[in-house]
Amino acid sequence: MSASHALWHPGLPVVPPPADDELLGSWLMRISQAYGLSLRNLLDRLAVLRTQRRTAPPWYELHLDHVHGPQLSAALHRPLDSLSGMAAPQYGRRWTTEMGFCGQCLDEASLNGAPLGWQRSWMHPMALACEKHRSWLEPVTVARLREIRTSSDFRQLPRRNIEWSAPELRREALLIDGALWFQALVCKPAEHPPPWGKTEPDQLARILRTLIQLLLSPAADEAVHHQLGRSPRNVPERQQRWPYRALRVDDGINPPMTLPTPDHLRHRQFVLGLLGYYLRLPPTNRAPREPLAKLIAREVPVWQLDRWPEAAAKWVSPPSARARHQPLAAARRKSPPRSRQIEKRFAAIFGVGRL
Ligand SMILES: [Zn+2]
Repeated sequence: MSASHALWHPGLPVVPPPADDELLGSWLMRISQAYGLSLRNLLDRLAVLRTQRRTAPPWYELHLDHVHGPQLSAALHRPLDSLSGMAAPQYGRRWTTEMGFCGQCLDEASLNGAPLGWQRSWMHPMALACEKHRSWLEPVTVARLREIRTSSDFRQLPRRNIEWSAPELRREALLIDGALWFQALVCKPAEHPPPWGKTEPDQLARILRTLIQLLLSPAADEAVHHQLGRSPRNVPERQQRWPYRALRVDDGINPPMTLPTPDHLRHRQFVLGLLGYYLRLPPTNRAPREPLAKLIAREVPVWQLDRWPEAAAKWVSPPSARARHQPLAAARRKSPPRSRQIEKRFAAIFGVGRL
C-alpha cells in the first residue's frame, strides 16, 4: 500500500512538547504513553512506518528513514526539519555495546516535574560526560535500552555508585574536563575547532584515529596506566585488550566521521578523556603528561605525521614534527628497533606482555 494524502492522519489533537534536546524516539514514546499506546501502536495508527520494514526500529534508533516524514510531521503538527533535528545519529551496521546518560539530568527533570526525556546528544558514541553537571555519563547497554517501553523506565536504569576519595575526585575532574573538551571537538567542531587551527574534518578524523589507536594499543599500557595516578581499582581492566570497533557516525549535522570507539563507556571515558586532556594543553605546558608525549613521539611514525597539517603535527608531537624535516636516515634512526617491533606484535596477538 503506498502512502497517499488520503491516508494521512489528520493530526493528533494533543501533542506534548518535546523536552530540550530530546531524542525523536523518546518524544514519540512519551506521546504514545499519553494516548495509552505502545510506540509501535502509535506509529501503526498514524500509518507513518515505512511498509517495507517488517519490524519497527527500537525507540532509540528511530530515524526519519524509518518513517514517512511528511505524514509524521503532519500528525505531530511539527515541521519536518525540526523532526529531522531530533532523530538519532546513524551508525554503520552495529552499535557500540554501551551508551551513556546523565542520571542527574533525569533526576532534575523528575524533581521539577518536567518531561522525562532521553537526550539526543547521549546517543552520540563520543558523548562521555554531561556538560551541565560536569560529571561522567552513566553506562547503559544498548540491550538494556531495547527493553525500555516507557519514559518512566529511564528512572530504573542502574547507576554506578563509586565512593571517590578527594584525590580521586580531583583526578576524575581533570579527566572529565578532557572528555568534555574532546566531545566538543568531535560533536561541535564549528564552535570548538582544534587548538592548532581549523582542520578539514577528514584530516581531523585521521589525526584522532591515529592517536586513539595508539592509546588502545599494547604500546600504551605503561603510559596510560600511570596517567593521572589512577589507582588500579578504578582503572579499566587492561589485562585483556579493550574491545573497540571503528564506528562511522553520521549525526546529521557534521560530516560523517569514522573513529575507533571502545565498546564500553568507561573505557571510552578514560581513553578519550585522557586524550582530550593531553591535546588541549599547549606543548609548552605538557610536563605532567610527559609519558604520553614521549609515547606519541616514539610511536607515531614520521610517514603518518607527513599526512597531517604542519600546525597539527607541531601541536600534537613537537619532537616528531622536528623529525619530519630531518634527512631520511635520521628519521629511520628514530623508528623503534626491530626487536621492539617483534615484541609489540607478540603482545598485540596474544594480548599479553608489558612493553
Ligand atoms: Zn546532566
